[in-house]
Amino acid sequence: MAGEPQTDCLFCKIVTGDIPATIVRESATTVAFRDINPQAPSHVLVIPKAHYPDAASLAAGDPQAAADVLREAGLVAADEKLTETGYRIVLNTGAGAGQTVFHAHAHVLGGRGMQWPPG
Ligand code: 5GP
Repeated sequence: MAGEPQTDCLFCKIVTGDIPATIVRESATTVAFRDINPQAPSHVLVIPKAHYPDAASLAAGDPQAAADVLREAGLVAADEKLTETGYRIVLNTGAGAGQTVFHAHAHVLGGRGMQWPPG
C-alpha cells in the first residue's frame, strides 16, 4: 500500500532508527539528517516518514507530506544559516537524473557558490 514502510529501504530504516544518521530536525511526518557524502558544506536530506519512491509520487499520494518536506527544507536552511547566501533544494527523480535511493528526499545544499545549469 502507498506510503507503507519497505523492509529493503535504507531511508525507511533511518526513519525507524535501524540505521543511524545524524538527525538535525524531525516533525510528525518528516526527518532531516546529514548526507553521508556531503556535496557542500551544508548538505542535509529531508525525507517523508512515509515511503514513496520519489518526490512526484509523494506529491501525488500525500500532498500534505510533500508540503511538509518543503517546509522542513526551508527550516533546515534557516537552521544552517543559509537564507542570506542562498541555498539549493534538489529533488533527483529517476536513475537517469542521479537518484540512487528510491525513497523520496529533498537535498538541501548550501555554504558554497552554486553553478547553473547543474551537471
Ligand atoms: P540521490 O542520489 O538518490 O538523490 O541521493 C541519495 C543521497 O543519500 C546521496 O547524496 C547519498 O550520499 C545519501 N546516502 C546514501 N546512503 C546514506 C546513508 O546511509 N546515510 C546517509 N546519511 N546518507 C546516505
